[in-house]
Amino acid sequence: MLTHMPVAYIALGSNLGNRADHLRAAARAIDALPEASITTKSPIYETPPAPGSAEGQGDYLNAVVQIETTLSPHDLLTALRDIEHQHGRERKEKWCARTLDLDILLYDDQVIDTPDLTIPHPHMHERWFVLKPLCDIAPGTVHPHTKKSLDELLCDLPVAGKRTKITW
Ligand code: ATP
Ligand code: CA
Ligand code: CA
Repeated sequence: MLTHMPVAYIALGSNLGNRADHLRAAARAIDALPEASITTKSPIYETPPAPGSAEGQGDYLNAVVQIETTLSPHDLLTALRDIEHQHGRERKEKWCARTLDLDILLYDDQVIDTPDLTIPHPHMHERWFVLKPLCDIAPGTVHPHTKKSLDELLCDLPVAGKRTKITW
């Protein structure tokens, strides 16, 4: 029997089409995986595209969910890619507009560095739109590399978006 169910955090983002519906559908699909269940959802934030993104994109809706899962990190990535594709995600240029982006931020306190999977997510500590919702549901969590708490990392960043009243 598993005494410890691994806990992971997944960032959800959408800036194309009905953004809130994409986040809701993604959360339902993650929760519907037989080997994963959502334990907490953050509020939903709205943020302009990060500097360096392709021109002419709309603002993002962003959120983070906490899950308990028996999937390995790589199997979780595969499941999330399937969900992205079910929701119309096409892989075009990097950082282009997308209906749905699902990134694994943390998986317990594991550190993974393989060609197709890096955990902690390599950009999480520099992205307000990731750290803000993550801190809402995982305050006090320590970043496995920097050993700083997520709250401290968030304090180092300028506010880059706003909390919405959009519900799940
Ligand atoms: P960014 O990494 O800057 O957030 P992105 O999300 O726009 O960029 P994608 O095109 O969605 O980039 O993903 C590119 C690849 O990143 C994926 O095919 C996946 O293999 C890889 N990847 C590495 N680490 C992770 C992770 N922690 N979560 C999700 N994908 C990851
Ligand atoms: Ca991303
Ligand atoms: Ca991604």
